[in-house]
Amino acid sequence: MSENKPGFSTLSIHAGAQPDPATGARATPIYQTTSFVFDDVDQAASLFGLQAFGNIYTRITNPTTAVLEERVAALEGGTAALATASGHAAQLGVFHTLLQPGDEFIASKKLYGGSINQFNHSFKSFGWNVIWVDADDIDSVKKAVTEKTKAVFIESLANPGGVVTDIEAMAGIAKDAGAPLIVDNTMATPYLCRPIEHGADIVVHSLTKFMGGHGNSMGGAIVDAGSFNWTESKRYPMLSEPRPEYDGMVLHETFGNFAFAIACRVLGLRDLGAAISPFNSFMLLTGIETLPLRMQKHCDNALEVAKYLSGHDKIAWVRYAGLEGDACHALQQKYMPKGAGAVFTFGLKGGYEAGVKLVSEVELFSHLANIGDTRSLIIHPASTTHRQLSDQQKTAAGAGPDVVRVSVGIEDVADIIGDLEQALAKI
Ligand SMILES: *Cc1c(COP(=O)(O)O)cnc(C)c1O
Repeated sequence: MSENKPGFSTLSIHAGAQPDPATGARATPIYQTTSFVFDDVDQAASLFGLQAFGNIYTRITNPTTAVLEERVAALEGGTAALATASGHAAQLGVFHTLLQPGDEFIASKKLYGGSINQFNHSFKSFGWNVIWVDADDIDSVKKAVTEKTKAVFIESLANPGGVVTDIEAMAGIAKDAGAPLIVDNTMATPYLCRPIEHGADIVVHSLTKFMGGHGNSMGGAIVDAGSFNWTESKRYPMLSEPRPEYDGMVLHETFGNFAFAIACRVLGLRDLGAAISPFNSFMLLTGIETLPLRMQKHCDNALEVAKYLSGHDKIAWVRYAGLEGDACHALQQKYMPKGAGAVFTFGLKGGYEAGVKLVSEVELFSHLANIGDTRSLIIHPASTTHRQLSDQQKTAAGAGPDVVRVSVGIEDVADIIGDLEQALAKI
């Protein structure tokens, strides 16, 4: 390779990988093993004491997963990363390392629905208290900060699409609060947006979505930006206090700018156990090789579909940050100029009945609750994911009776539009 830093497409294929030292295998092998034989007693002791890097047990490290971790860290521009069983496991791992019972964290209201549930219910039962904010209203976010605020959590490109968060403004608030900014970069991926360049201290991913990209494997990741000083205050004891099980080691002192990733691994993965399978790491690595090609095609197709729907007489509105008139268009141009992602919502003039009809009549689109597949996906939230809510609650959650969400795939755009056209004609 040249002396210049490799570009994004090169990193997507090569970062972290080399021919297998044992066999010469060019693709990263699947090390489908739970455990690894020690060289001798001294090496075993140094591995257990964190004095040497190496493999002990796949709950904590695995060679296939290590390639995935290095690749995600390189694409995001972080110092280190670790992979987890799912995106939610990544979020659990981050907060487990940061919070003690009774602590608070601030989170944007515009998040993936599963994250809203995780924060409202399971995290509350651990004594981790979420304070919801409207990330569009910077003053109200500032006012939500208290002495107990230990983290700020946002999505770069927020669910259900079309909403871009002002990452630099949120990073400023987090810095003033003495707390790290955590950015969920699932919907944008590092191809569209690199939150660390805008002040994020920690990036989390559901690799299940666009990173893996084929709708076949669950996975998550935590990326350490290496930017946060964990020992400046006494607020993050997992990183700044001596660890009795590691001979009194202070993780931030020993591991410096990748201490957060180490803590999530040697405390979080060790004790919470949400490890990814080596097979899934292999599938996700294979997906990431084509991330730049897929993401650009997703965005190009989504923009054409959004434009088509904007001009259709049965459509009341389209919310996609890539459209010039959209409220988030300026933020999209700043934070993700290559495209606004593949997920967005639109409203049908015919309301609830029209939404049900549309998802029943599509043929190429799959009617299901996922995003980030090569295939085009569609859902009518009011009759599925949000059906238990009242009409008023549905509207407040952005899932009013008329709302349809699509995740535009990478098929030929003429076929995607053709499918919507034939289904809309039947309404
Ligand atoms: C899917 C998703 C998650 C959760 O990830 P899983 O892999 O399903 O656990 C978190 N954040 C966003 C934005 C998501 O789309």
